[in-house]
Amino acid sequence: MRIAVISDIHGNAHALDAVLAAIAEARPDALWCLGDLVGYGPRPNRCTRLTAAHADICLAGNHDLGVLGTIDIGEFSPDAAASARWTRAVLDPEARDFLTSLAPARSTTRAELVHASPRDPVWEYVVTAAAAQAALDDTKTPIVLVGHSHVAMAVVQPDGGKLTGGLAPYGKTIDLAKGRWLLNPGSVGQPRDGDARAAWLLLDFRAGSATFQRTDYDIAATQQEIRERGLPPGLATRLELGA
Ligand code: ZN
Repeated sequence: MRIAVISDIHGNAHALDAVLAAIAEARPDALWCLGDLVGYGPRPNRCTRLTAAHADICLAGNHDLGVLGTIDIGEFSPDAAASARWTRAVLDPEARDFLTSLAPARSTTRAELVHASPRDPVWEYVVTAAAAQAALDDTKTPIVLVGHSHVAMAVVQPDGGKLTGGLAPYGKTIDLAKGRWLLNPGSVGQPRDGDARAAWLLLDFRAGSATFQRTDYDIAATQQEIRERGLPPGLATRLELGA
């Protein structure tokens, strides 16, 4: 069983197209998405439609819920709130229906999937050792998958042992037998770990490993779409910085 994991697409269709092509080449048995299909980016309808067509499991992220009005966007940064309002206005009924059907957490026998963290699946960023420890303490599955921070990460806790790990750059491969793992695949549509390429993760349960992936995409094309739609210009600039 091999599973591709994606997260935080954020309406970036050029990034999603490239990642789906790379995933098709890897021929996994399933595709899981950890949420934030929309928000920030210029192509929310296409990204929702493609994800709905390809993902076997899909979560809702805080941006999806903010666009739907399920949560208050008063907590969002100014750029995030502006793009959420724009997305709300252009979202088609089919995309809205799909996003409405999603929840921010799901369990499988192999992994716990949450958009943000197990104790707060909508808002909490798991970027500290304390938050990573809490995420493992609050769950029982061998693997915990989180998104939301847009930073690819791998943290392991051996049986009764100490937590180790951190950022997971392109090509990093981990041994799933080492302990319980907390994994963040990074972001497809708005990476924030200094690598501007679209991020995803390939879990291989037969080999007992997982590999962090990066896929090149046409960043300039997404930047142009952001400007054409009058979205905040900072949302275009940050894509080339991976920040
Ligand atoms: Zn996000």
